[in-house]
Amino acid sequence: MVSTVDLVVVGSLNVDLTARVARHPMPGETVRAAELTTCAGGKGANQAVAAARLGARTAMIGRVGTDAHADTLLEALRTDGVDTTHTVHDSDTPTGTALITVANTGENSIVVSAAANARLSPEDIADAHSLIGSARVVSLVLEIPVDTVVAASRAARSAAARVVLNLSPVLDLPEDVLALADPLIVNEHEAREILHRSGTPPTGPSGTGDAVALRGLGARSAVVTLGGDGAAVAEGDHTEHIPGVVVEAVDTTGAGDAFAATVAWRLSQGDALPDAARWATRVSAHSVQHPGAQPSYPMLHALPEPAG
Ligand code: ADP
Repeated sequence: MVSTVDLVVVGSLNVDLTARVARHPMPGETVRAAELTTCAGGKGANQAVAAARLGARTAMIGRVGTDAHADTLLEALRTDGVDTTHTVHDSDTPTGTALITVANTGENSIVVSAAANARLSPEDIADAHSLIGSARVVSLVLEIPVDTVVAASRAARSAAARVVLNLSPVLDLPEDVLALADPLIVNEHEAREILHRSGTPPTGPSGTGDAVALRGLGARSAVVTLGGDGAAVAEGDHTEHIPGVVVEAVDTTGAGDAFAATVAWRLSQGDALPDAARWATRVSAHSVQHPGAQPSYPMLHALPEPAG
């Protein structure tokens, strides 16, 4: 079938309630927020918006409630041109919500209530069969049930779409699903957790060593994001450290989602994985210089040219 979308994102939609604080509270402690904002978020929706802003023809498969937050989230997707035909309203549960605190250092901490996201089902994936069949790349995040990730991965394989799997948060997946990830994308903490769970001892400093080890677990290719240090890529026999773009970070919320979305978009355009990751460091470095997740994602024309 001729591709009609570059990218289908299967994942979560959350409303982000973000408090800016001088420092994160200790257990049992209350701190005052300097500011509170309400924004569209969720790893899946973040990816969809990031990709659409860069020019990817993007569709979102997900679930929201029927509350006011649901309207905020769908409106945010549609404003950026994301196809929401398969973003389902669920009348039995609230919309997913993330409670985020961002400290002066730019570091964030997050509590997520999955709510409607927890009800995205394999049947929803079956209902989106023809959409998945028209996609070049299917990008998955793990803030939805594992069964649904499994169903979506297998549907993508049947449709010969490339699977980008952001295994965040870390959950155990069947081997055949991990084997479809091309790439598996995780941050360095998630990489260490996956390797720990699998009983694989660290081979050295995090980065390319971990990316190679993740490939060793069965992923077709692997990318480990390294915060300001960029990312490590392992594909076949090739490993590469992609340096981060040097910027002053004010808020890293959603940087990983921008990274994964950019990789997915560039792969849909035929880039090799290291080149896609280079694009992704540029987009995510732009994102960390601005507050919030979706509000921080650039349009393609606003992206600075690479230095040098
Ligand atoms: P996550 O947001 O999932 O924890 P990371 O912190 O690794 O993931 O960030 C994802 C990507 O965002 C990195 O690979 C990097 O390209 C970019 N990034 C994150 N923090 C910075 C920073 N301080 N400066 C420049 N780029 C950054």
